[in-house]
Amino acid sequence: MPGAMSDILDFYTDAPLLELGAEADRVRREKHPDDVVTFIVDRNINYTNVCVADCGFCAFYRRPKHPQGYTLSYEQIGQKIEETKALGGVQILMQGGHNPYIKFEWYLNLLRYIKEHHPIHIHGFSPSEIDFFAKLYRMDARTVIRELQAAGLDSVPGGGGEILVQRVRDLVAKKKAGADRWLEIMEIAHQEGMKTTVTMMYGIGETLAERIEHLERVREVQSRTGGFTAFICWPLQPENTPTMSHQPKTDAVEYLRTVAIARIVLDNVPNLQASWVTMGLKIGQVALRFGCNDFGSLMIEENVVSAANTTHRTTIGELDRLIRDAGFRPARRRQDYSIIPADHPATASAA
Ligand code: SF4
Repeated sequence: MPGAMSDILDFYTDAPLLELGAEADRVRREKHPDDVVTFIVDRNINYTNVCVADCGFCAFYRRPKHPQGYTLSYEQIGQKIEETKALGGVQILMQGGHNPYIKFEWYLNLLRYIKEHHPIHIHGFSPSEIDFFAKLYRMDARTVIRELQAAGLDSVPGGGGEILVQRVRDLVAKKKAGADRWLEIMEIAHQEGMKTTVTMMYGIGETLAERIEHLERVREVQSRTGGFTAFICWPLQPENTPTMSHQPKTDAVEYLRTVAIARIVLDNVPNLQASWVTMGLKIGQVALRFGCNDFGSLMIEENVVSAANTTHRTTIGELDRLIRDAGFRPARRRQDYSIIPADHPATASAA
């Protein structure tokens, strides 16, 4: 493993659950023999919910002129960063809707404002947003990335990846960056020296073979760039979504099978995060034996998944305990997966 795509698909669909888990655990232990499970304390800041992309699975966005539409001010964002730091947070994950009313200078000045007044690692602007900026401001994606980076952007999140197969994207997110474009923007970001994460949201009408195709495409880019630090997958949260509330919610077994096959296929991506925010803490623990070596983030604020009525919350102490109970040693990390020493000031606060 990984072998031919058809063999991988057969293993994904037919292998007994625990056999799949054992193989994923073997890959994980090869990469992370030290039994450490990391997590990061951060805050998800959704700077605007105004969006014209109309993704069928999204319960978060509002169309322009909707009374519930918002764009946060710099001061509001600065305040959220200070609250994050007070709770031991070391980064912000900053993503938003495709808002046609915001000028490019607003983003650049926001990044400069944060770095000057509230310095923190900024993990922000998914490839879909970068593609939207490039189209709206008539720039090429490389220039957009360079300007964001020069203004203070540190790394790029893998948001908006969903399933990187065009047939599926045409069904659920037609107006957003296509599969090729999403991966192209990630590759450019890597070439420009940025590390990024990569995601997969499944259960949106794709076949199992298309999930494997998604993983293969990620693996291919990673083999050229080495720029993906981590892979995160989760199932669609169908409640309150515009067109997908009829979709059945996939179960925990399917989640475990999916993280396991991802760990096996993506043997060139160093880290796999357990998505306890969507799956719950107990399945998150089990995922640590199905290939995951990271417990993701203790998100101080999360708007997108909670808009679909899925909200699992916890504290740093509880995360430590859950990781120990699963047989591992917990450690807090930064975005680049470096470990924050226990005597560092950031670890003195408890969220
Ligand atoms: S997922 Fe993102 S791009 Fe799609 S509608 Fe929601 S906010 Fe807009």
